[in-house]
Amino acid sequence: MNLLSSVSLLLTLFLLPVTSVAEVAEDQVRETVQECQQVQEQTEDWRLLLVNRWNPMPEEYAVTLKKLPGGLQVDERAYEDLTAMLTDCGKAGLHPIVCSAYRDVATQTRLHKNKIARLRAAGYSQSAAEEEAIRWVAAPGTSEHHTGMAVDIVSASYQKLTHQQEKTAEQKWLMEHCWEYGFILRYPTDKSEITGVGYEPWHYRYVGREAALAMRDSGLCLEEYVVIRRLAEAMNIHTETIQETVEAVS
Ligand SMILES: [Zn+2]
Repeated sequence: MNLLSSVSLLLTLFLLPVTSVAEVAEDQVRETVQECQQVQEQTEDWRLLLVNRWNPMPEEYAVTLKKLPGGLQVDERAYEDLTAMLTDCGKAGLHPIVCSAYRDVATQTRLHKNKIARLRAAGYSQSAAEEEAIRWVAAPGTSEHHTGMAVDIVSASYQKLTHQQEKTAEQKWLMEHCWEYGFILRYPTDKSEITGVGYEPWHYRYVGREAALAMRDSGLCLEEYVVIRRLAEAMNIHTETIQETVEAVS
């Protein structure tokens, strides 16, 4: 599959109604995302680094970390926007808590193994447990938390990582305002086939304000946005909005 067919498939994916998207074979999506990553330029905007189950962290990638007040660490370049978002959420009378931020590979390995063990205990076979586990806890090396640009935020009044999290006032505020601070809700409920991750109404990813705004307005997830941006660059297309870009490359 070449770049153009990859992009046309992705365009098809997000222009189709959700029911049709669900019918697209996972293999096809995986192949598309792999192709997308292969065209990634080394000069890519650091904020758009794509890490998912098909695209592990680049081996040479080095992140400079900065400690949050609670002791967890994030990429120092995302620190200011993150703390501004948390501060403003607090000013709205809410109590967001960052419960996970940067994770090294050893920590991810432990979490991943624990998830598989819990699924095995619940009756899954080893292979089924491994398959299910990566929908919820990324395999070591493929977690966005390795980048230092991903944070899990929960409400002080409800700290479980379940779908109920979306009902808290903190998540409602964050989902409405995160783009103003350069963050996106990384794994929305309707994009699981493309992101490879189930709905996580607590996982936010720093992408910078321009990209966050464009993704909010267009409804694109990071995988889709990165492909559109790269294709537009390759075709030397310059447009005002991401919607115009989508139309121009279609
Ligand atoms: Zn997370």
